[in-house]
Amino acid sequence: MIQIIMPLNFLGTVYREIRQSLVDMGQMFDLLEQPAEVVDKPDAPALTVTGGEVVFDDVHFSYESDRPILKGVSLTVPAGRSLAIVGPTGSGKSTIGRLLFRFYDVDGGSLLIDGQDVRDVTQHSLHEAIGVVPQDTVLFNDTIWYNIAYGRPEASREEVEDAARAAEIHDFIQTLPRGYDTMVGERGLKLSGGEKQRVGIARTILKNPPILLLDEATSALDTRTEQGIQASLRRMGRGRTVITIAHRLSTIVDADEIVVLEEGRVVERGSHAALLAQHGRYASMWATQRAEDEGADAA
Ligand code: ADP
Repeated sequence: MIQIIMPLNFLGTVYREIRQSLVDMGQMFDLLEQPAEVVDKPDAPALTVTGGEVVFDDVHFSYESDRPILKGVSLTVPAGRSLAIVGPTGSGKSTIGRLLFRFYDVDGGSLLIDGQDVRDVTQHSLHEAIGVVPQDTVLFNDTIWYNIAYGRPEASREEVEDAARAAEIHDFIQTLPRGYDTMVGERGLKLSGGEKQRVGIARTILKNPPILLLDEATSALDTRTEQGIQASLRRMGRGRTVITIAHRLSTIVDADEIVVLEEGRVVERGSHAALLAQHGRYASMWATQRAEDEGADAA
């Protein structure tokens, strides 16, 4: 009996892992449409995360050979610090996230985590080290418990509840008649955008990765929900290396470093205050967003 159950359990775990990364990353990067061209080197070791420093060293990349997308991007995010990437649509922000996850290999330069080239370690260990909070969290047609716990299926009841508390969704779950056993997703209880985000945050807190990749939601949440989510994300980011792909500048003013990407090049970098003082691209983006926000408030 044991002999039969073991492989099934093992397969279940592998399946869950694959499914999880497909869902998380599929959301963020349309993975399902992307070629699986990246393979582990034979006998590649696991990534050893000592602090979570991320370095992009003169990275060049193109999806199609005649159209360069990243043209020599260099970034350093020291362990436990935060970097926000801003820039117009199509400037290459999401591509940076995809390369960190090694969905593609760079054409030139290198990408290092704690000094190890991502091409030299197993993808499994790389994916374990990076937590992704995508724009829109996908829910399985399963219980809310399953939806949080599948980030780490062996987690105890207490750990799942702690993660839900930290994501500020525990109290809401308690108000549901079936609590954590409530079915959610397409065929169950429909959660609001903010609640889904919180499930995604709880999932990632449970996974407990040293590096976080946040793809800031563009979808409109009301201001209060948005502020609450931002506070949860900031708390989750403490003690981790955080890279945020940002759409709204107001959410990244506290980032240790902000880089402005334009047509695949870093054109400005610095703190929010330093960038404002430069009166360059960032400062004018900031002025534009302020004007838009004030317009929206007045409306
Ligand atoms: P951003 O996140 O800043 O909006 P992206 O990194 O998504 O920009 O895209 C940068 C450029 O790469 C865009 O011109 C986009 O059209 C192109 N691109 C993105 N994904 C692919 C792909 N899978 N194949 C070919 N080109 C792509």
